[in-house]
Amino acid sequence: MSRPVALITGSSNGIGKQLALSFAEAGYDVVINYASSEKAALEVSEVCQSLGAQTLVIGCDVSNYEAVGQMVQKTIETFSKIDVLINNSGITKDGLILRMKENDFDEVIAVNLKGAFNTVSHVSKHMLKAKSGRIINMSSVIGILGNAGQANYAASKGGIIAFSKSLAREFASRNITVNAIAPGFIQTKMTNVLSEEVKNNILKQIPLGRFGSPRDIADCALFLASDKASYISGQVIQVDGGMAM
Ligand code: NAP
Repeated sequence: MSRPVALITGSSNGIGKQLALSFAEAGYDVVINYASSEKAALEVSEVCQSLGAQTLVIGCDVSNYEAVGQMVQKTIETFSKIDVLINNSGITKDGLILRMKENDFDEVIAVNLKGAFNTVSHVSKHMLKAKSGRIINMSSVIGILGNAGQANYAASKGGIIAFSKSLAREFASRNITVNAIAPGFIQTKMTNVLSEEVKNNILKQIPLGRFGSPRDIADCALFLASDKASYISGQVIQVDGGMAM
């Protein structure tokens, strides 16, 4: 039996890095994607290999439709299949709406939402042919609650939820499940930039009284990719310490 293959976008850092390590540890071969952090991606690849995985490292801006097509093509040439697609790449460009530049809105939507369309557009034909597959899209509690200063990010993450539910309906008859994970506050470089004051305010809103770790998200993704989750589709799983209930 060949090993299952997971393509994980934005897996050079943060949550994506942990996704790559956890999937490698669980017996998957892994495609590691990055935008600019080649060195970090190669380091992730080395650790995945030490865990027994075959890896492919691909630099590709997920907002570029053609480049994503080439990434998927290279993956199929190398592994012949993609069992799990995780749309994890994401960026923030925060600002109150009156001060938000058009580019700040467009770039966040292009990476966080259109990026997921780009991968699904290219990967789904292989999953449909195989009549099997798992798609996991990274949303956020901000896509559920909204947040002052993050209208662009919230729109992209709310969009990811609606996108996931629509795909779940389209692909169900071909045994492909599509779910979204909505992390709360997870300690990565995306959240490290926030001031101590902002972090303390967020902490007060988390019933479990602590920030999450990338491993909390990876454990949920592993479950959604596993046979144990074969009857779960079109759902948004919040991994947020109870923040958004
Ligand atoms: P992170 O540490 O900043 O890592 C982001 C990853 O996305 C990096 O690997 C980065 O690659 C990649 N990336 C950025 N732009 C890209 C592009 N155009 N094309 C391909 N890859 C790109 O962020 P994170 O905290 O791990 O977040 C991962 C996901 O979880 C995001 O979708 C984020 O919105 C979501 N999320 C995070 C939190 C949180 O609290 N951290 C909460 C809710 C949701 P490079 O390193 O090469 O730039």
